[in-house]
Amino acid sequence: MDWADELAASVSGLQVVNDSKTPSGTVHVGSLRGPVILDVIVRALRARGLDTTLLYGVDDLDPMDAQALLTPDAIEREMGRPLAHVPDQAGDGHASYARHHAGAFIATFTGLGIEPDRYYWMSDVYASGDVDPYIRIALDRAARVREIYRRVANVQHPDEWHPVQVVCEVCGKVGTTIVTRWDGERVYYECRPDLVTWATGCGHSGWVTPFGGRAKLGWNLEWAAQWSLFGVTIEPCGKDLSTAGGSRDRSDAIAREIYEREPPLNFPYEFLNIGGRKMSTSKGRGATAHQMADVVPPEQLRFLFIRPRPNSVIEFDPEGTNAIPRLFDEFDRVAEAAAGREVKGTLPPSPERLFAYASLSTDPSVVAERAAAARLAFAHVAFLVQQPATDLPSAAAAEKGSPLSAVDLEILHEREGAARRWLETYAPEDARIRIQPSLPEAVGELDDQQRAFLHALADDARTAEGGLGAGWQETIFRVATASGTPPGRAFEAIYRAFLGRTSGPRAGWLLASLDRPFVVARLDEASGMVAAQA
Ligand SMILES: [Zn+2]
Ligand SMILES: [Zn+2]
Repeated sequence: MDWADELAASVSGLQVVNDSKTPSGTVHVGSLRGPVILDVIVRALRARGLDTTLLYGVDDLDPMDAQALLTPDAIEREMGRPLAHVPDQAGDGHASYARHHAGAFIATFTGLGIEPDRYYWMSDVYASGDVDPYIRIALDRAARVREIYRRVANVQHPDEWHPVQVVCEVCGKVGTTIVTRWDGERVYYECRPDLVTWATGCGHSGWVTPFGGRAKLGWNLEWAAQWSLFGVTIEPCGKDLSTAGGSRDRSDAIAREIYEREPPLNFPYEFLNIGGRKMSTSKGRGATAHQMADVVPPEQLRFLFIRPRPNSVIEFDPEGTNAIPRLFDEFDRVAEAAAGREVKGTLPPSPERLFAYASLSTDPSVVAERAAAARLAFAHVAFLVQQPATDLPSAAAAEKGSPLSAVDLEILHEREGAARRWLETYAPEDARIRIQPSLPEAVGELDDQQRAFLHALADDARTAEGGLGAGWQETIFRVATASGTPPGRAFEAIYRAFLGRTSGPRAGWLLASLDRPFVVARLDEASGMVAAQA
């Protein structure tokens, strides 16, 4: 984890790491990349002995702007109101729409081992009066703010525009109001029917105090005010916000020129794409943070986000593919390397650091024990859970060659649950594997060479001992070579005989999951040496 450790080595003193989010609706899995990166940075800072606080803000005074998420009768009334004031559409007891959606996101964080030292809700922070000094400065320096927008972002606000928005006293909307005057204590605002296209203001206008939660800062100012208010030193943000003239540039300039404070260190990170689409805007099925967390256990989910460097795009397409089994395989490979075992293929720069950062535990002895644990390949677990007679812990102990430890067993159970949910959700059709109870019709397509191979394999299996996947796999290769059958043809013959199709999981482990007498009988039947009992 060179990037997190390098970042931690480049700073000194007290660190405050911050992120915040508008609770505007269901969150897609890609939105978890930022929080996971944040958590890794915090761990790296603490590992260096730096006193570090992790803050997470909920920007719940932001206006409701997602029409699709409201019931039809609520659209006219709720669009443009602060999310903290919109009723919970789900009707499951949350105080507001914002509390409902933020609650789901926070629950996902907790499941991933991300535990901010404090969550802050902007509706509370404004109501407490803590933002008042920043509102006053922004209003006093409104001309300078307009100039920054012009210079940094090429955005031309009208000369009368001021960088705060009042919560309309009549209709309760904040997205529809514009402040046009400031007398040093009160602002004059208008709630315009046509200020934005997505919400309709009521037409009210008047003088009001902007303090104590009656108004909010514009987004770029609010962000910069959070940095000053909480003493933020590091705030990574997504590439979309980090573009030239984008949100981050504007807030950086506002921090320096309006609030006279150096902005926090940025650490831009790329997106996670699902099937080539940017996840944060995709409405793709089965790709919300909580849906993914239901299938992919926390350590593999953390690993998904931190295995690539933050500045590289992650392509992840779990729907109908083996992307999730491959994620587990790569995780297992890194675990093996972290435990000091030899593995094939290219490894990340420091597998033991990567494994530790993917772990839920921050206790080095727990992490070391987990790295060294025995893990059954995910695809194999997915296969075994579909075989009614399989005793999974026994099969895992046989593969390991010794009894399972408590940690082995815990990992196995977690993997079993994940495999079952994967089969119910994202798994491709060919991952669903059923041993055919009687000789499949597909054996009719076997040629003479394949029949001879199956016959030779039956003879070998009749006398052999044991029944481990690796042993079976070796036997298959040996018998195939001896009978001059290309391995691909040999495997196809086995799949036809047992599954009634031409492809399947690793054949050695497939046969190892079955009773040896059943395997021998089926091989005999399929080779045509014994008449099918039917
Ligand atoms: Zn709710
Ligand atoms: Zn209004």
